[in-house]
Amino acid sequence: MTEKISPYLKSLLHLPSIRLQYIDETKNATTVNYNDPLMEDSHEVVKGLIHKYTHRALIKVSYQCAAHCRFCTRIRQIGHPEGRLQEDDIDAIAQYLSLHPEIDEVILSGGDPFYTPQTTKQIIEKCQAIDSIKTWRIGTRLPLQSPISMDSKLVKELEACIQQLAAQKPFFILLHVEHPDELTNDALRVIQHLRTLGVTLLSQTVFLKGINDEYEILVSLFKSLYHIGVIPYYLYRCDRVKGLEAFYADPQKEKEIAIKLRQYLSGIACPLFVEDIENGYGKIPVM
Ligand SMILES: *Cc1c(COP(=O)(O)O)cnc(C)c1O
Ligand code: SF4
Repeated sequence: MTEKISPYLKSLLHLPSIRLQYIDETKNATTVNYNDPLMEDSHEVVKGLIHKYTHRALIKVSYQCAAHCRFCTRIRQIGHPEGRLQEDDIDAIAQYLSLHPEIDEVILSGGDPFYTPQTTKQIIEKCQAIDSIKTWRIGTRLPLQSPISMDSKLVKELEACIQQLAAQKPFFILLHVEHPDELTNDALRVIQHLRTLGVTLLSQTVFLKGINDEYEILVSLFKSLYHIGVIPYYLYRCDRVKGLEAFYADPQKEKEIAIKLRQYLSGIACPLFVEDIENGYGKIPVM
């Protein structure tokens, strides 16, 4: 994966919590052969559509993001231009979803769906009339990687499309947040705005060694998220992708932190601690 960072994140690189997520200071990861332990590629039924669980389908809108996280589960693909879906691909996805009414939930992922707002909007427009889809989700890091990009005309158009759909069907925006340092005033402003779209805001966090594997950091993160109207959904163990070993936190330490979080936080503010098991079993609670 090539290093990529937004101008906004560049201005935050003095913070180790940000720098370690994006900059490889050891410069020795370039030769790693990243793998796919969650077997997503073998569940890709048409280009960009992962149908791994019966009633949920995940769409990889592109492999592009505003910045490249060094611990990304899909590090094998991130940054490659060929992942971006074209009109034909979107038609094929819409057809698959129509022919599979057991799929009642669509998750837009990637890459970052807000980074390619036109493509994401096309997908929603082509699929929103499919009756069997009852709920929608979008995962994004753009509000934390480049809040100013959320003000672009194309993102505003995507937001209008989301707002319209959210008035008819439950729509969830899932923010990927790792550390309280990411909740800057700029990011908070964007999150505050997202609340006005009529969506439910959720978050997901990955345990990252040396970045957020401390009780105090995570308590502060989940409380802050809860206080701004974001419900912490999942706390993941870092996926066992080859090449990401430096980010694996100590499993015993993770468990102790997760227990303390559960005791201290409001139920709504405490995410479920899960591990995405290899070979396709899915996200299993660690405790
Ligand atoms: C995480 C994931 C989902 C959604 O799982 P939930 O537990 O419902 O959040 C769906 N498909 C794939 C491939 C996933 O990785
Ligand atoms: S923003 Fe998400 S998809 Fe993009 S590199 Fe980071 S973790 Fe991966």
